[in-house]
Amino acid sequence: MVSLNRRVFIATSAASLAATSIGRLPAQVSGASRPWYDAMRRCGHLNFNEQDPLTMNVEAWTDYFVGLKVDTLMPNGGGIMAFYPTAIPFHHRSQFLGTRDLFGETVTAARKHNIRIVARMDCNYAYEDAFQAHPEWFEFNKDGSPRRHSECPWLYKTCLFSNYFTEQMTAIYRELSDRFAPDAFYTNGWPGTDAPGVCYCQNCQKIYGEQTGGEPPQWPDTRSDIYRKYYEVYMNRVTRVWALWQSTSMEKTSNSVYAGNLSGIRTVKNVNRMGKDAAWFYADNQGRSGDTSIWMCAQEGRLARAVAGKRPVTNSVGSYASGTPGWRHTSKTKEETTLWLAQAVASGMVPSYHWLGSSPLDTRWKETGRAFYSWLAQNENHFRNGNTIANIAVLYPQATISFYAANGARERKLNGQAIDTTDYLEGLYAALVEGRFLFDFVHQENLNPDVLKKYRVLLIPNAAYLGDHECEAIRAYVASGGSVLATFETSRYNEWGEQRADFALKDIFGVSTAGALIGPFGNSYMHKDKAHPVLDGYDGTEILPGPEFRVPVTRIGSEENYLSVIPNYPSFPPEMVYPQVRKTDEPAAMFRQLGSARIAYFPGDIDRTFLRSGHPDFSKLLINSIHWLMNGAEAPAQIAGDGLVELFAWETEPGFALHLLNYTNPGLTHPFVSKFYPTGPHRVTFRVPDGRRIGSVMALREGYKLEFKQAGAEVTFEIPRVVDYEVVALT
Ligand SMILES: [Zn+2]
Repeated sequence: MVSLNRRVFIATSAASLAATSIGRLPAQVSGASRPWYDAMRRCGHLNFNEQDPLTMNVEAWTDYFVGLKVDTLMPNGGGIMAFYPTAIPFHHRSQFLGTRDLFGETVTAARKHNIRIVARMDCNYAYEDAFQAHPEWFEFNKDGSPRRHSECPWLYKTCLFSNYFTEQMTAIYRELSDRFAPDAFYTNGWPGTDAPGVCYCQNCQKIYGEQTGGEPPQWPDTRSDIYRKYYEVYMNRVTRVWALWQSTSMEKTSNSVYAGNLSGIRTVKNVNRMGKDAAWFYADNQGRSGDTSIWMCAQEGRLARAVAGKRPVTNSVGSYASGTPGWRHTSKTKEETTLWLAQAVASGMVPSYHWLGSSPLDTRWKETGRAFYSWLAQNENHFRNGNTIANIAVLYPQATISFYAANGARERKLNGQAIDTTDYLEGLYAALVEGRFLFDFVHQENLNPDVLKKYRVLLIPNAAYLGDHECEAIRAYVASGGSVLATFETSRYNEWGEQRADFALKDIFGVSTAGALIGPFGNSYMHKDKAHPVLDGYDGTEILPGPEFRVPVTRIGSEENYLSVIPNYPSFPPEMVYPQVRKTDEPAAMFRQLGSARIAYFPGDIDRTFLRSGHPDFSKLLINSIHWLMNGAEAPAQIAGDGLVELFAWETEPGFALHLLNYTNPGLTHPFVSKFYPTGPHRVTFRVPDGRRIGSVMALREGYKLEFKQAGAEVTFEIPRVVDYEVVALT
């Protein structure tokens, strides 16, 4: 173990940082005038590599991005590697830099075209010479060895709690500001959304001793007081460093801004804490792999909007082939990239088109970006959004996604079965897309009357971990007439996973818990006991497939069952495949009327079971429930037709925009989309505010006007076909 001197300990103590939250923003964010980055629409991002100074033709690359009509360009500044002749000790210059100043050349060339510059930084690793001189900057393993990069072991992992973050990185920002006055700084991979790691450097050990009460578990374990304290200490450190870098970026240039890197609905770090005050939310959702559904980028936009409000949100769109295995120097298909770009803009994000290295041997991606960005530029004002047009809210269950079923292990398990804590949200999401609903995400920490008043219905995909005040907000929402769907263990635990004696929302659900979780089981069923609108469309069957897990419940009142549990029975051998219990009194669903509010509660994990099984009886149950909960309330837009399309609708500067993303594709759940299967016609009824007259309805992607009729607030028209994506502008 390398020793640290005392000065380092003092300098890196949490109290040495003046800023306490991200809340110190550029004046424009809170003032009447909007900051420059609020107006950006198209970003470009070429990642330099160490060899690029040997060959990079800055003018040619600038021409490419000018052709894309980008307003912002992100060249590498430094951090791991400087691409300009830095004077900062241990700020490693590219070994091929020679007499070049690649960053400066790019800045100069871009500014001739009025393109803003974001200095792309990396604070996560540094070289051997830095490690030898400043071991206190780096993370260590328990055995005293430094942590190195898995593929590039000559790089050493820096420690968030060290003054590499508070002194070295700020020195680099200041040097770049002095020489180039970049319009913004962005850090690759930081703070990210992964679980906070545990470090064995002397400084971290001291922090654990003084602030958390001991060494935290490696993986989330909210049963541990130490883990809870560590999570808070870690999140506080993140927001303090973020605030420090924001203020550092503004020292020289008052309208400069710092953007951290946040990505994905599968986050352990609290994305609301990081994103809600961030001047600029930079999502890094570059592509998908494995069995990831195509809508992953659109989900990112929904989550970003839920925590960033109307602040600018960008998404890094990788033009290279992400996947497993991945290839960073070959292109994604044109179709996959286009649909990713389309999701970014449909969900209200600004795309940042991204390639690695200035000497590509595969240039197929170039035209894909040019074609999409040119179309985007032609229609730019239709992507300047106000509010979404949606009256359905989906609760984003942060605490459940972060901590549920973790117990200190990397793999989350319920009764021994590995689960993914985002599966509940993903299953509901799949049903919402299938049902063609317009909806927004609402982060659990933002549940309040002001946010919820816009929504007729709140959908809660297994928010097992909910705080008391969050449950109160849901209760108040129901009392005010808002309808709720909830599944499985929602409200059974507080936000740290402490089990309550019963559901906090038992009065809303109308049931009490009656024992430990049951499952995982296949071959269980739900019996239709009594007709109900939610159960319409299941002609020809008395039973529906049952969820894989359920909370056993008992009714509090005397309401009748509509759906009851048939417990699982053997699936094999066939001689044994018969129900040992044909009928129970245990509710598999509660459909309730509370004043003017309607409640649909499912004690089983029907959302997750739908995602895992794909059985359409579950999506029908979810879709029927949502229609019933709406109780005749009109959807802001109804789009009828065949095909799987995800919808967004926005108020825009010129009027309204309805976005349709065509996911009807064999590449839906596995990359790559390589051919489009056009859908249409889609018959649309779009409701505009009373008194608003629509003069034109234009399909921007196909590029023609649509015939329409307006009767009062209802505008009706037909979209003949959607190939990849369509945006219908109503002005
Ligand atoms: Zn450390």
